[in-house]
Amino acid sequence: MRFMQANDSALAKMRKKSDLPSKLCVVCARPFVWRKKWAKVWDEVRHCSDRCRDERGPARS
Ligand SMILES: [Zn+2]
Repeated sequence: MRFMQANDSALAKMRKKSDLPSKLCVVCARPFVWRKKWAKVWDEVRHCSDRCRDERGPARS
């Protein structure tokens, strides 16, 4: 699971024809699927939502 996050290019190669790529959110650990708004930044996306992105610090809960 963790090694997959560290290698996004390998993930991209796993993409099937009609399947959108997906990743695991580093905050809530849920899978999330490619969205059009991420088209240009997909490689950098680590969180399923703005909410999770705001909570990347471990001390916030
Ligand atoms: Zn999340």
